[in-house]
Amino acid sequence: NRQWRLMRRPKGELSPDDFAWAEAAVPQAGPGEVLVRHELLSIDAANRAWMSPVPTYLPPVELEGVMRGFGIGTVVASNDQSLQPGDRVEGLLGWQDLAAVPGRELRKLPAEQAAGDQLNLLGITGKTAWFGLFEIGRPRPGETVVVSAGAGAVGSIVGQLAKVAGARVVGIVGSQEKCDWLTGSLGFDAAVNHRDPDMAKALKAACPRGIDIYFDNVGGEILEKVLFLMRSGGRVVCCGSVSTYDTGTPPPGPRGIPGLLVVKRLRLEGFIVTDYEARYAEAEKALAGLAAAGRLTAEADLRDGLEHAPQALIDLLAGQNRGKVMVRIAG
Ligand code: NDP
Repeated sequence: NRQWRLMRRPKGELSPDDFAWAEAAVPQAGPGEVLVRHELLSIDAANRAWMSPVPTYLPPVELEGVMRGFGIGTVVASNDQSLQPGDRVEGLLGWQDLAAVPGRELRKLPAEQAAGDQLNLLGITGKTAWFGLFEIGRPRPGETVVVSAGAGAVGSIVGQLAKVAGARVVGIVGSQEKCDWLTGSLGFDAAVNHRDPDMAKALKAACPRGIDIYFDNVGGEILEKVLFLMRSGGRVVCCGSVSTYDTGTPPPGPRGIPGLLVVKRLRLEGFIVTDYEARYAEAEKALAGLAAAGRLTAEADLRDGLEHAPQALIDLLAGQNRGKVMVRIAG
């Protein structure tokens, strides 16, 4: 069983040396457990946050343990009555070929859909965009929605959904090429580059009536700049803060809190997608319908081979990805 293990807590930017490649014995499924062959691994910004010693919504990944990761696989052997060999499942399978996981921690998936869609548009990524935008942001036609990490997995879907809702949509991204992709291919109204020293000015010009909803994937200084442009009564959807994950010295701030929140009557609200687990089917149906109607595309950045998992995460944190980063392990 090939595995990537986390050997030390990264001090600043993630490095390949923080991991070690190992060959372990094939695990056995214990009582209530299911042995799963891992086929498609999800690479998520949150993976980096889980390596920090500070607990997130999950405890830190154990040192020298298998790196935690979400993925899709096929049941090989099962000691759980609800799952049979051959079933397709999703869950925290880890950065490894085979995982023995309690059956109750797995979710059975229909075998007829492509695994790539199940991990991306119909997976945590699409549902994070869906529930964050519609439950927390609640866009109305004509409002201005800004989304950071706008060319990433979650952000690229958020922007397209906000267009479906009739909003003016502006993306914040890390390169001119990504700006062109958002406006040229995904239907965003405008995009600005956060590496541009005049980003705040460019954002102001792109949002002439101010910002009603900010879907925040990055936190830090970009959040601070956006807060000054929010309209009265605006909503900030706090989805994540990737600018603070891969650094030993998280940016201070944002400044302007709480004064700006008071004066502008702003609401900042966080969420974790699993809060909406009971309603996943509703989001899947809506997202699949929009994709089938040609109104939504979920871009995939697919890497081949488990050996490339650390580099895939390093690339995501450096903004080298467009859309959802996934690693094909088998199948
Ligand atoms: P993405 O595919 O969006 O990749 C991360 C992107 O962040 C990069 O492509 C990069 O793009 C951008 N980025 C990296 N560093 C910075 C920085 N310092 N400043 C600005 N942008 C930066 O990853 P995910 O879709 O996996 O995650 C997006 C966000 O969603 C994360 O914050 C994650 O934690 C959150 N999330 C939250 C969930 C929840 O339940 N609340 C569930 C799933 C994800 P660029 O080139 O534009 O810089």
